[in-house]
Amino acid sequence: MVKNLNNLRADFPVLDQTVNDEALVYLDNAATAQRPNQVIAALTHFYQTDNANVHRGVHSLAERATADYEQARRKVQTFINAAEPETVIFTKGTTDGLNLVASTYGEQNVAAGDEIVISIMEHHSNLIPWQQLAHRKNATLKYINLTADGQLDLDDAQAKITDRTKIVAVAHASNVMGTINPIKELARIAHNHGAIFVGDGAQAVPHMAVDVQDLDVDFYAFSGHKMMGPTGIGVLYGKRALLEAMPPYQFGGEMIGFVHQFDSTWAELPYKFEAGTQNIAGAVGLGAAVDYLTAVGMPTVQAHEHEIVNYLLPKLTEMPGVTVYGPQDPANHTGVIAFNLDGLHPHDVATALDMEGVAVRAGHHCAQPLMTYLGLTATARASFYLYNSVADADQLLVALTETKEFFNHGTVETK
Ligand code: PMP
Repeated sequence: MVKNLNNLRADFPVLDQTVNDEALVYLDNAATAQRPNQVIAALTHFYQTDNANVHRGVHSLAERATADYEQARRKVQTFINAAEPETVIFTKGTTDGLNLVASTYGEQNVAAGDEIVISIMEHHSNLIPWQQLAHRKNATLKYINLTADGQLDLDDAQAKITDRTKIVAVAHASNVMGTINPIKELARIAHNHGAIFVGDGAQAVPHMAVDVQDLDVDFYAFSGHKMMGPTGIGVLYGKRALLEAMPPYQFGGEMIGFVHQFDSTWAELPYKFEAGTQNIAGAVGLGAAVDYLTAVGMPTVQAHEHEIVNYLLPKLTEMPGVTVYGPQDPANHTGVIAFNLDGLHPHDVATALDMEGVAVRAGHHCAQPLMTYLGLTATARASFYLYNSVADADQLLVALTETKEFFNHGTVETK
């Protein structure tokens, strides 16, 4: 099945509504994407026909639910080109996956005097787990800086990553500026120094083809809800040898080999890291989202978002009173654009845009060290996905012009 970008909007009923008497233009995809009917149907179908707990039962429903769950794992495996399904661990999301690595691999392998290197553009989810690990271990946390236009400074990365570095953890794509980071190169530098590389794929996997073997990342985390899957499901990919050497993250049902009164052994991968009843329907829904994205084709998704950014970025940059943050080169950009309007708080901008039906986010975007680094407290952020169009970008531009008029003159010219 091949899906055509021109007619897929009909798959997303939520997009077909008015907000404040205006047609909705949903540009908050970096926070969460919308779900197509196919994902909603997969969830409904699972609950209506196959629902049971997995791996425990011998009855037919339990076997079907287990097959559905494991099939979803294999879909994800193919989608990110992991070598084996056992290296795909279902989590609650990116935050959960990164905490898992910090609390297991990090706890086991980082000691006093060691270094952990992250970048200044990290989301708090790929920052606080390492910051707190560094505190616990008396290790040093270092930040890779940015170039003037919001790209990761590779020279600074070369300087910061040393033989004392144990972990390098960087976002594949920034949730604020849309920067695509050279993580294959960062993984190579990390490996040259005997460190491991952890990729935060939350803003990359939904928007571009990701091949974890080609990138040679040691761990890579992402969330289902940003790629049109359900909330509460995500993935942690890890290299088998590392996962096998790591202690479990949580203890309880499903993750054991055998439990004795005073000691226990652990299950094989991936179950060692999937304690308790998992988000089974969530995994099934994520599998349906993977099917949907595969049918469109990730190069097509990326090219489409690129076309919108190529169109919008220069127009937004040239608009009087607008400051755009991050790379000016659309080639190194996802569909995420951060900006501010002179003299206006981004919350006011977002509220005014909502009056025009345009949904954007405003705030620090869970990246407070980046905001401080840029000398800001907050920005507005528009983020595009495969169901958005150049017409949506035009709607944003029109709504921004009206917002500026409203705040400058207290009125909006009638159309
Ligand atoms: N990292 C990045 C780059 C993100 O954009 C996000 C979500 N905004 C996260 C991590 C955290 O994802 P989640 O809240 O789904 O765990």
